[in-house]
Amino acid sequence: MNKKYQILKDTFGHDKFRSFQEEVVDNIINKQDVLTILPTGGGKSLCYQLPTLLMDGVTVVISPLIALMQDQIKALNDLDIKAKMISSSQSNDENNFTMQKLLNGDLKFIYVAPERFTSNEFVGVLQRININYFVIDEAHCVSAWGHEFRAEYRNLDKLKRFFPNTAICAFTATATKKVEADIASNLNLQNAKHFRAKTIRDNIDIKVEPRIANGKTQILNFLKTHKGLCGIIYTFTRKEAESTAQFLSENGYSSKAYHAGLSPKVKDEVYDAFVYEKIDIVVATIAFGMGIDKSNIRFVIHTSLPKTLENYYQEIGRAGRDGEMSYVYLLYSKSDEVKRKIQIEEAIDNSYKQTGLDKLEAMYRYCVSNNCRHKIIANYFEDEIDDCKTLCDNCTKGEIEQVDVSVDAQKFLSAVYRSEQRFGTNHIIDILRASKNQKILEFEHDKLKVYGLGVDKSKNEWMAIADKLIDIQAVFLGEFRVLKLNTLGMEILKGNEKLFLDSDKLGIAQKIQEEET
Ligand code: ADP
Repeated sequence: MNKKYQILKDTFGHDKFRSFQEEVVDNIINKQDVLTILPTGGGKSLCYQLPTLLMDGVTVVISPLIALMQDQIKALNDLDIKAKMISSSQSNDENNFTMQKLLNGDLKFIYVAPERFTSNEFVGVLQRININYFVIDEAHCVSAWGHEFRAEYRNLDKLKRFFPNTAICAFTATATKKVEADIASNLNLQNAKHFRAKTIRDNIDIKVEPRIANGKTQILNFLKTHKGLCGIIYTFTRKEAESTAQFLSENGYSSKAYHAGLSPKVKDEVYDAFVYEKIDIVVATIAFGMGIDKSNIRFVIHTSLPKTLENYYQEIGRAGRDGEMSYVYLLYSKSDEVKRKIQIEEAIDNSYKQTGLDKLEAMYRYCVSNNCRHKIIANYFEDEIDDCKTLCDNCTKGEIEQVDVSVDAQKFLSAVYRSEQRFGTNHIIDILRASKNQKILEFEHDKLKVYGLGVDKSKNEWMAIADKLIDIQAVFLGEFRVLKLNTLGMEILKGNEKLFLDSDKLGIAQKIQEEET
């Protein structure tokens, strides 16, 4: 049997290569530069680990995170393959010991962070040993057009200068054509073979819904229909991570919060509890996930709009790396987009502003779209695929009926107008639903003509209508989230324009309201 198949079976325990793996392995064996874009769970590690076992030297893997390196090293050591890292998390003695091992030819893999290449001593050691090839993991970090640009990755442009005869193999799960070109040029790749897998995770079922109130009822409903499964819930803030974890625990789900505000000790405990299946759910900010070594994550929930489709795709990609069916669920609201926009506007780096806003817009469009979700993601990464037909809510729900909510819209807009365009959504809904709260009484809004005109609809239904009005820019959110009418809003108010809402969006609002009361 060809040696590579034997290693695949005997060392890694796999019967056959997954798509693209064999081609990538062959090119690496032939010492060619390669740039490989394979979705999360596609099996990138194997692509760059297997060829090393057919070569005499050491493979240098450059990776952005110590946690990622530790996982990989552990996995290799478990297979009896000699791998170590040199990193700032270790003592000088430990690093010196590893350098010596390198010089003695005792290692098959050495893992390092990109900043190591600023050290002349380290580069000097590498120049004295037999390197098989360099691996750049998470290569999108090289590009400022990507979503996780890391300045240290820019050092890697020196690699080809220092080691002109050593192949570079770059890997990432996400790269638009622009990022792909940027990676190749920043790393000075030479006649590199590019491999780009189709951007579809065919074991992931996608569902996206407008968030009703704080979304907690929707999350519970999801968990009820996906009983006993383990997963990650991503939240917008640390506080929300804490409160959601507590809420789930109170409802009988074993869960813990994870965010950057926790001590390293607590973070390690939560990570271990999740990986070793002592808890089912981690409720986290984006601080959790990159390099997580758990292939059987069955669901990923987002409680609000992610910043970009790149982030979203990478985060949902953590589900189902073992190839088994997995479920992802995103809750969004127009107010998330507004919050994110403010964050971007306030950012110091001006050059990124427009790109940031464009990416956010694409993310929001994805949520409100009625097209195949997998296809929208693929198109975003400049890939063409057919509709998934069975793997997303939009493909499986068939034709969506449109409900004429023009009269309700008029009531809403009239309340905005009559309260002098000085109040936010909640207050407007309070007027319509005849609330007697203090603010209503203080401003004498119980005397307005529209007061109580909307008691036939729940708060959540009004929210769905308000979201739609904001979305089509019939009203806009001013300072302090005050609603103001735009031209289109005036036209709807006068009855010259109509407003339609997807029946399912209204339906979700009605259903959640019934369950909450
Ligand atoms: P990526 O880095 O692309 O996200 P990994 O390298 O972590 O993916 O691989 C994901 C999972 O797929 C791992 O559990 C790995 O053992 C498994 N895997 C990789 N290649 C194969 C293969 N040829 N056959 C079966 N399982 C595989």
